[in-house]
Amino acid sequence: MKHNPRAGLTLAALALAAAAGDAGAEWVGDARPMMGTEVNVYLWHDDPVEGERVLEEVFEEAERINQLMSTYIEGSGISQINRDAASLPVVAGEELFEIIERSLDISVLTLGAFDITYDSVGQHYDFRERKRPDEATVQDAVEHINYELIELDRATGTVRFLEPGVRINLGGIAKGYVVERGVDILKSRGVENGIVTAGGDSRLLGDRRGRPWIVGIRDPREDGQVAISVPLEDEAISTSGDYERYFEEEGVRYHHIIEPSSGRPAGGVRSATVFGPDAVITDALSTSVFVMGVDKGLKLIACLPDYESIVIDADGRTFYSNGLQRPEVEPVDVPATEPVPDAC
Ligand code: ADP
Ligand code: MG
Repeated sequence: MKHNPRAGLTLAALALAAAAGDAGAEWVGDARPMMGTEVNVYLWHDDPVEGERVLEEVFEEAERINQLMSTYIEGSGISQINRDAASLPVVAGEELFEIIERSLDISVLTLGAFDITYDSVGQHYDFRERKRPDEATVQDAVEHINYELIELDRATGTVRFLEPGVRINLGGIAKGYVVERGVDILKSRGVENGIVTAGGDSRLLGDRRGRPWIVGIRDPREDGQVAISVPLEDEAISTSGDYERYFEEEGVRYHHIIEPSSGRPAGGVRSATVFGPDAVITDALSTSVFVMGVDKGLKLIACLPDYESIVIDADGRTFYSNGLQRPEVEPVDVPATEPVPDAC
């Protein structure tokens, strides 16, 4: 089994793949490069051959969603919307319509910190090529970052942009959707224990057969190191970090999480982790908390009883949301912990 050192989460549990107990039953798993990151699926099955088939089904589903939601694929539904929706309403199809609708709900909830129209600026970055937009391009493009410029018509199932220059990108929510759909597949095939991970987003099904899963939150500055380990069962967890896609230029870190109000990479936070019942929400919220920063981000989380968060700020300090017990494993390489802001 491969492990992607760039993935936001390190699943320590994956190393224990051989811990089979029941006759015939086994852990099976695989990891594949997809969606510009790595997708991991790992599950317990009474029949390993059948288990392998279930793995395959999840990877196929991930690829299907990628074909629908990737802006890198010219024929994808999202590319069609970006091409035409400023000229005419575009029929999105139920699935795309719904994920856009959920994205807009989260924009409202986060007062615009989460905004899929960030891409009018975002499209000008190429992190591999160390390419970024110049100041004039940012100033021009930031005018088109506003989720209220997206109009959804439920009756016709169409998406329309209210002005030219608007572009959407589901990079902050689609991987959560992939892992949520992946776990739906596991459940429908009778699997009771498993994990689906896409980059920094994971959904855990059940436990690790009698023990919780241990999910590691990466140290944002020490490659390959775990800063905090969290025991979890039956939950989704997402981490957004400034170390996933970035380059540095004259001491400035240009990374992939854009503050919609300025059109620039959001400062103040190195990593934001959110966990709760739904990976679509934890994915979008981890991006949101990253943008909102420690105070506003944790205040938002305090208003959402099912969701908790751990944030590492620009000075390496760790902050926990109110409902969270400090993990037993103390943070490594993190100088201090601070009290959380007021409750909702
Ligand atoms: P990843 O798992 O790829 O690290 P995150 O959940 O951290 O993803 O989200 C980062 C991605 O979200 C970016 O690569 C980009 O596609 C998208 N994004 C960046 N800024 C915003 C924003 N303000 N609102 C919504 N999506 C964003
Ligand atoms: Mg996210």
